[in-house]
Amino acid sequence: MYLCLMQQPLGKEVAVVGGGPAGLLAAQRLAEAGCRVRLYEAQATVGRKFLVAGHGGFNLSNAEDATPFAARYAARTSDFAGFLAHFSPTDLRAWATELGIGTFVGTSGRVFPEAHHKPADLLRAWVTRLQALGVELHVRHRWLGFGPDGALYLRNETTGERTTLQPAATLLALGGASWAKTGSDGAWLPELERAGVSVVPFMPGNCGAGVAWSEFFRAKVGRQPLKNIALSCGGATVHGEIMLTDYGLEGTPVYALTPQLRAALATGTPALLHLHLKPDLSSTQLLDKLARRKPGKSVASFLGEALRLGSPVPTLLRELSPAAFPAAPTEAAALLSALPIPVTGLRPLDEAISTAGGVAWEALDEHLMLRVRPGTFVAGEMLDWEAPTGGYLLQGCFSTGAWAARGILHWLENSP
Ligand SMILES: Cc1cc2nc3c(=O)[nH]c(=O)nc-3n(C[C@H](O)[C@H](O)[C@H](O)COP(=O)(O)OP(=O)(O)OC[C@H]3O[C@@H](n4cnc5c(N)ncnc54)[C@H](O)[C@@H]3O)c2cc1C
Repeated sequence: MYLCLMQQPLGKEVAVVGGGPAGLLAAQRLAEAGCRVRLYEAQATVGRKFLVAGHGGFNLSNAEDATPFAARYAARTSDFAGFLAHFSPTDLRAWATELGIGTFVGTSGRVFPEAHHKPADLLRAWVTRLQALGVELHVRHRWLGFGPDGALYLRNETTGERTTLQPAATLLALGGASWAKTGSDGAWLPELERAGVSVVPFMPGNCGAGVAWSEFFRAKVGRQPLKNIALSCGGATVHGEIMLTDYGLEGTPVYALTPQLRAALATGTPALLHLHLKPDLSSTQLLDKLARRKPGKSVASFLGEALRLGSPVPTLLRELSPAAFPAAPTEAAALLSALPIPVTGLRPLDEAISTAGGVAWEALDEHLMLRVRPGTFVAGEMLDWEAPTGGYLLQGCFSTGAWAARGILHWLENSP
């Protein structure tokens, strides 16, 4: 629901810093409510990470029901239930449609723009709408920090000229700390810390896992997918497809288990993923198939014929469980349904799809305003939350952007 019903803060000047989805949506909501909005973006164009998100299947949101949707935000479920109620996946789809970009729900429940629409089409239509609403877009303007008088310090990245601003309210939507080449470099974190804002160190979210494969394995397997598997760690299980790479594992189930892997790695004990190679079979069905193995049949041909576990599975089994493939069906079933994969570490932060850590929740009030800086609000990935891939990341950024805009309007209404 839009806040235009509130007393209109006509002409009040708001600075939005950061031109990702969180900042752009907040700018739109604020301009629609009558604010004078200036948006500052350090890069030469806005929405660079938004465009990167479009490279490999552009999940805008997800069609999951509200309760399980909010639960995707784990420790922040109840906060996100509120943000999502304010700007829901349905609102997001309506917003895109209003910009001329229809959406559809894929078989997995993920929400995508209709096939003929590229992410750049959506961004272009969005920027045109913002300009029509009077939002001033100042690209190549980097926020450097706060001055002692509370002003915003900005540097024009083209001329080097520095300016200060004293807007009636500010939204910081500076993104996380991965894919720095898109502008989301996390350089803001020490600045906020200096300003007395409580922060949590950045950690990779939704990232690949390192496995110390043997040279033989790397040479033989290279990069190959494993489809219809389930991966478990720390009590959580995720179904899907993973990719074996020369450095380890990638893919949705690995990304979704990043929090569990991080926790296991932090204890100093080996982080183990357990791979179920036939999760679609019941344990009885699996045992039944394994019991039909004829003596003399090679493991590779038996697995291929009876269980459709062709290459690279036999090589993977030899790599991770060098003892001979168990003859006893129960032992073979145990191996195929929980093959342990020792993880040596997570891929570097800059490669991660998202970032955990950032502005701590205790630094914020219920409007996403910084307690130590009344009038300055925060939204998007720079907040300390994480969620799996599947549309939950962008939806989280949109919903917190909308919520912060609501908080700003409330603030403007109630401040002199
Ligand atoms: C490879 C990849 C694929 C992805 N795919 C999906 C997907 O399919 N679905 C999904 O939901 N999510 C996806 N994501 C995640 C999603 O793109 C991000 O969560 C989202 O873009 C974060 O939005 P944001 O507005 O918080 O920050 P960002 O999009 O990171 O924007 C922050 C902006 O702030 C600017 N900025 C930073 N510091 C300053 C400063 N000091 N002064 C001025 N400007 C500054 C940056 O240049 C940047 O433009 C993907 C991410 C990656 C990397």
